[in-house]
Amino acid sequence: MKKINLHKAGRATHQTLRDMNEILVLNQVRERQPISRIDIAEHTGLEGSTVSKIVTRLLENEFVYEDGLGSASPQGGRKKRFLHLNPEKAYAIGVDLSPRRHTVAASDFSGRILRRLSVENTSDPQQTLEAVARSVKKLLQTDLPKDRVNGIGVSLIGLVDTKEGRMLAADSLGWGDDVLVGSILRNALNLDMPLYFDNGSRLAALAEIWLGAHASRQPQDLVFLEITDGVGAGIMIQGQLYHGSMNGAGEFGHISLDQSGPPCSCGARGCLEVLASDQATISRYRELCRAEGRPDEAEGAVTIEELITRAAAGNPRAIEALRQTANYLGRGLIPIIYSINPGVIVLGGAITKAWEIIYPEIRRVLAAQVSRFFSSHVTITPSTLGDNPSLAGAIALVLARAFSAPSLGW
Ligand SMILES: [Zn+2]
Repeated sequence: MKKINLHKAGRATHQTLRDMNEILVLNQVRERQPISRIDIAEHTGLEGSTVSKIVTRLLENEFVYEDGLGSASPQGGRKKRFLHLNPEKAYAIGVDLSPRRHTVAASDFSGRILRRLSVENTSDPQQTLEAVARSVKKLLQTDLPKDRVNGIGVSLIGLVDTKEGRMLAADSLGWGDDVLVGSILRNALNLDMPLYFDNGSRLAALAEIWLGAHASRQPQDLVFLEITDGVGAGIMIQGQLYHGSMNGAGEFGHISLDQSGPPCSCGARGCLEVLASDQATISRYRELCRAEGRPDEAEGAVTIEELITRAAAGNPRAIEALRQTANYLGRGLIPIIYSINPGVIVLGGAITKAWEIIYPEIRRVLAAQVSRFFSSHVTITPSTLGDNPSLAGAIALVLARAFSAPSLGW
């Protein structure tokens, strides 16, 4: 997202070149802080004098701050002064609308969450979105400097019209086919503040590049696969979120792996989603318990977290249930690897807490079924964004704008 899309760029004027270099330097500070002017020049290839001028502007506008002097080199060289991103420059509000509850958070300019609130949804979209607006207002009434809040990023479910904030299909909410989230929320908020919308799995991919473990290494081509009650994905191509012609890109959950498998909500059978969701793993565990004459073991409400705890304690049925899910996940990744050729695939969701069990199985499937040129190239890693990567992405959707070039069509 922070990458400049050259296809959208007009002729570079003196002003746009200046903007681009300023953004380049600001991104260097964000990604490598604390950093000296000399190191910025080295990493960007800009002249030292150009870097100095830009840094002066960034200091004046309070995008960055300079800390005390670094230690002098033993050879008696000049002391380096280090630059940091100013976390108080701006703030963002992020909203994550999930099937059962919504979470609202405020973050500083570095993406650090300062406060968060979580409330159960009701079955009525109007009521729920009014509750979202109340939570946002509650956060704005704290000591957050309201005039420095750059906007509200909203993470939605299913097919999302990102301009209007319409949810065109979100089966898991049961709110019908076309919910005008944007206009309901705008009316309920009645604030002069921009709102931005996108699908949650897509925002999780943005957050991985923006705030996650990959932020400093900047993979250009990344897929985020989120395993929860369903399987969603976000695709980053050449550093840009890929939406597809109707914002539907990334529905890998509906790749059918077994045409005689269980039916899926999409109408097909044996989709990755029905074979690898948390519910599928739990059902598989129950079946294994029954098959081994231990039906009592799986009685009651077994959650995915509980199943993972049992696996970690050595329960062979829990381990086998997770291994079989990992096998389906591995098979589901094959078309993703061949069609997109990502450098990094990030897996999110509770199941990634069982990484020692699922990762070897995923790798085993890929080693056996994918050309070694492709399988050895791709890094597969668990998300490091905590329990709510979509919320982190909603915040990144607001903040990333300050680090990209608006005059270049962003
Ligand atoms: Zn399906």
